[in-house]
Amino acid sequence: MKFITIDKKDWTQGIDKSRKTYQLFGPVTDENGCKIKELDTDVAPDMDYHESVMSAKSVLFPQTETLLTANLDESVEDHHVMKRAENTYTPRAILGIRPYDAKAILLVKLNFDTDDYRDPYWCDAYEATTLVGLGITKPGPFDFSTSVGCGPFCEEGLDILLADLDDHYLAKVLTPKGEAYAVACGFDVAADDKESQALFDILQLEAEKNITSSIETDKLKGKNLLDLHEAPFWDDIAFACINCGTCTYVCPTCWCFDIQDEVKQKQSSRFRNWDTCMSPLFTRHATGHNPRGEKVQRVRQRFMHKLKYFLDKYDQGIMCVGCGRCVKSCPVNIDIRQVAHTMNTFEKKD
Ligand code: SF4
Ligand code: SF4
Repeated sequence: MKFITIDKKDWTQGIDKSRKTYQLFGPVTDENGCKIKELDTDVAPDMDYHESVMSAKSVLFPQTETLLTANLDESVEDHHVMKRAENTYTPRAILGIRPYDAKAILLVKLNFDTDDYRDPYWCDAYEATTLVGLGITKPGPFDFSTSVGCGPFCEEGLDILLADLDDHYLAKVLTPKGEAYAVACGFDVAADDKESQALFDILQLEAEKNITSSIETDKLKGKNLLDLHEAPFWDDIAFACINCGTCTYVCPTCWCFDIQDEVKQKQSSRFRNWDTCMSPLFTRHATGHNPRGEKVQRVRQRFMHKLKYFLDKYDQGIMCVGCGRCVKSCPVNIDIRQVAHTMNTFEKKD
């Protein structure tokens, strides 16, 4: 473990220095709120942001991503042969990522990087990325991250964790990737490890005290999957949903996508786009049959996946890091905490 002090006066100059080798991403605030996006050379990350509307997931899993291309010009020797798109995976750093969004990347990794298969696009982007987190000193009212094994100063998935201490940042360097990034920035003022850790512990405790919201999941593991699937409450939960998909797009742990082909003149491309289990088109088969043609089936799928299937499959908690974005953004106030309570307390009547 290694702590570094970064005077805020040196911050912008340091990260600018890192631009020689790193592509930078970070929070950018405009009239529509804050988003984590690529930082143009003259843009510094907004390190005073509170919450971002969208998470950092698009840095590793772009909303639209070309996977394969083929040249359809028959005069070319390898025409119609699909080849991996020439995407670049130069080193990149996400500055100011919130701890729950970094932990979410680890949950998404369970899907994209397994013993049986490896999504090369996501994995290559992941390997190229350094995560520089920013601890949350004032959690928002929708934050329930402490009840899902995360929290405002959670280190899981991060390479560096920063604590904002007014005129300087205290940086906890967690991995060799984090160390390499600090070197690229020229941040090398060592701080005392013991004192710094004690300060981090205090900040963490203070921040956690301000999280008053939680999600109830303790009995979910023991519930029978089919009983939950057939439970009578799904109609009530789904009633108000307008299937807008907002909850899935803002969620840092949602990973569904759709693959499409497109031909422009002699160039063919296969690309993927974010998709949502809330859309009826997502599961419609080429035959026209749709196993989730009804709204209630789609709403049930979203919550069963997050709160039961994922839990049963990976045994690593629920597929949620408690960021609260879906709760805050849902236009009809469907709240995953209430759904979890309903599922958690459900008892099948004989
Ligand atoms: S944001 Fe709300 S209304 Fe929209 S799909 Fe999700 S649950 Fe339904
Ligand atoms: S389900 Fe909601 S609260 Fe949980 S990680 Fe996704 S957006 Fe955040």
